[in-house]
Amino acid sequence: NGIPVAIVGEPNVGKSTLLNSLLNEERAIVSDIAGTTRDTIEDEMSIGGVGFRFIDTAGIRETKDVVESIGIKKTFEKIGQAQVVVYLVDSSQIAVNRERLQEVRVEIEKIKNKFPQKPLLIIANKTDRLADEEIENLKAKLEDISSHAERAEFLLLSAKTNLGVEELKDRLLEFV
Ligand code: GDP
Ligand code: MG
Repeated sequence: NGIPVAIVGEPNVGKSTLLNSLLNEERAIVSDIAGTTRDTIEDEMSIGGVGFRFIDTAGIRETKDVVESIGIKKTFEKIGQAQVVVYLVDSSQIAVNRERLQEVRVEIEKIKNKFPQKPLLIIANKTDRLADEEIENLKAKLEDISSHAERAEFLLLSAKTNLGVEELKDRLLEFV
């Protein structure tokens, strides 16, 4: 079995799309077979020759409220078993919605209180929907959030255009 990576994030932030991007990129290396849209709870794939097992924790129970979602024992169990936690947010939401940003802050605190030593990678997805100045602004916010948490880092990404997906793979391999 591959290295377990828990993927946390509310519905529609792009968890399945990101898994597809990762899978399609890896498949493209060996063949031209296009990946089908997947919406499974677990996805095994090899990245740079290393096996990973991605666990979509929201798949356990889809809820709008990630605070509530991660409060569910099973989700925490999955995070507990994971070697790395990937926390996915929708850039276009948190760039314009202060409340949503505050929620994200609280959620990250919750995860970090329970698992201080577990590497946490905050991914701001859908950056293709942002203007350049919004991206700079978002970077500053995420820098602030991750600097206040132990072993937390962030990455700007677009699962749609594949921007940042290579970087994500590199970062994941660093945690191994
Ligand atoms: P999930 O519920 O977290 O698994 O989210 P999905 O992967 O199903 O994506 C929800 C919606 O967001 C779909 O319509 C995707 O096409 C869209 N989406 C996902 N990633 C991106 C992205 O990077 N940019 C944009 N513009 N849309 C995206
Ligand atoms: Mg999904």
